[in-house]
Parts: sequence; C-alpha cells; structure tokens
Amino acid sequence: MCVHCGHPHISDPLGFCLACSIEIRREFYAGLERLTAYLASWAAFEEWEAEHPGGLDETSSVPPEARRSPQRVRVQNDGCPRI
Ligand SMILES: [Zn+2]
Repeated sequence: MCVHCGHPHISDPLGFCLACSIEIRREFYAGLERLTAYLASWAAFEEWEAEHPGGLDETSSVPPEARRSPQRVRVQNDGCPRI
C-alpha cells in the first residue's frame, strides 16, 4: 500500500504508488530549481560585493539620486511645488 495515498500498488522502493512517486519527484526537482536560483542570486551578490568592497559608495554604478538619504528624498517628494 502507498505510504502517501493508500493505493494498493507500490511502484518504487520508497513505498509510493506511481502517481505519488511522480508527484514527489516533480516537487523535489521544482524545489531543487528554486534552491539553485536562490544560491545563484547569493553567488551573484557575493561577486558584486567582491567588486565593490566599499559597498554603495561614490564609485559604484548606483545613480546619484539613488544615493541620497531617504529623508532627503521624502522632503523632495512631499507634494510642495519646487521653487
Ligand atoms: Zn500514492
């Protein structure tokens, strides 16, 4: 009997029927792809971090407007017309 759904026929050594065996493998490989993408993102960040030891400083590729403090941006965007 399948350990997951109770189907009488088992088709793999782990004790699952064919349908459950396929579904579990599909979920496993989907999770593996998500894990690979997650780890690739961290690898890309570490690569960027190694190329920018000072973080987001004046020499980085971040545009000047993105380097302003959040408070300064908020003051500029408070709805008042610019003089
Ligand atoms: Zn099953």
